[in-house]
Amino acid sequence: MKAAVATKGHDVAIEDKKLRKLEYGEALLGIEYCGVCHTDLHVKNGDFGEVPGIILGHEGIGIVKEIGPGVTSLKVGDRASVAWFYKGCGHCEYCLTGRETLCRNVKNAGYTVDGAMAEECIVIADYSVKVPEGLDPAVASSITCAGVTTYKAVKVSGIEPGEWLAIYGLGGLGNLALQYAKNVFNAKVIAVDINEDQLDFAKKLGADLVINSKTEDAAKVIQEKVGGAHAAVVTAVAKVAFNSAVDAMRAGGRIVAVGLPPESMDLNIPRLVLDGIEVVGSLVGTREDLKEAFQFAAEGKVKPKVTKRHVEEINNIFDEMEHGKITGRMVIDFTE
Ligand SMILES: [Zn+2]
Ligand SMILES: [Zn+2]
Repeated sequence: MKAAVATKGHDVAIEDKKLRKLEYGEALLGIEYCGVCHTDLHVKNGDFGEVPGIILGHEGIGIVKEIGPGVTSLKVGDRASVAWFYKGCGHCEYCLTGRETLCRNVKNAGYTVDGAMAEECIVIADYSVKVPEGLDPAVASSITCAGVTTYKAVKVSGIEPGEWLAIYGLGGLGNLALQYAKNVFNAKVIAVDINEDQLDFAKKLGADLVINSKTEDAAKVIQEKVGGAHAAVVTAVAKVAFNSAVDAMRAGGRIVAVGLPPESMDLNIPRLVLDGIEVVGSLVGTREDLKEAFQFAAEGKVKPKVTKRHVEEINNIFDEMEHGKITGRMVIDFTE
């Protein structure tokens, strides 16, 4: 079967691979679609350590073709996912307390185990989340990573209906965060970005206030116009956005960090103490989060923008990604 494989030269090769036989608890998916994520770019570039030979991809959706012994959670014909959170140990303090994505012995698809950028992929049946009826599989692939990550971040923000949520960065992650915040959590949303196109798109999606932080002091505007935000989700990959989010909070506000700039943010300790500001990180989502994120997308509350591409174009897609030329999600189509 055809697979997109990371190479020593930090390129991606399209190879003919043969998967091993299924073991206990495993299932084989015939992949329909696999989204291309920024994380894949880091993996193939060796930014997290060299992994030549690994099949990339952690935004996979496919149909179960075969189940191994002991599988009860999936059956042949089901549509299911391959996510970055491929498998936890199942018995540590994190796995047992609803925080399985923090498991120290986690396995990640397309990084520590072969992923979904291939015609077929082996999954651990109990960790592969079923896609609900009525959700387009190409759209579902986008929910598997970007969707669940932002859904979880909004959930972690603790935002209540009618409260103000500031979203910093309205790109691929941010616009989904906006849709979940508006259409699922019923929050009022402030969109902050330096790109006018992203802000226009945010307006179309129903943002209640948009701020171009290139020309305006976002925190100052938020304080003046709404008395400070109740929470913020920061998907931007710039330290300034994180700092601005702290200044944009009202007392008791919570900042959820999702973007990963390789820097430290400035935290004014009296501000944190006296105003009770919280800063918390959020990483992808659990299986339960993904199930919920899928369901809301199936109900039409969240609509990721996807473009279908051929697997042979994968190096071009990474090139476009590195040059910031991608809007929405590029999704590899394996259905032809
Ligand atoms: Zn991803
Ligand atoms: Zn664990």
